[in-house]
Amino acid sequence: MSSCVDCGRDVDHCHGTLVVHCDQTVECTNAACELGDLLRHAFIIECAAVLGGCCGSEKAADLAVAS
Ligand SMILES: [Zn+2]
Ligand SMILES: [Zn+2]
Ligand SMILES: [Zn+2]
Repeated sequence: MSSCVDCGRDVDHCHGTLVVHCDQTVECTNAACELGDLLRHAFIIECAAVLGGCCGSEKAADLAVAS
């Protein structure tokens, strides 16, 4: 963690990875993380990019068609 610039600056931030779901909800891999703010995270990924995604790309496609 010594390489983290924000730690040295004492800036409020998180070392977890913020996962952004299809419905725009966010979830952090750090269980201690209470605020899922994009700005607090250096690592942000879409849930579809990990383990095939938890929301399901098929559902997202259906929603796109329905609307
Ligand atoms: Zn840090
Ligand atoms: Zn998801
Ligand atoms: Zn976090």
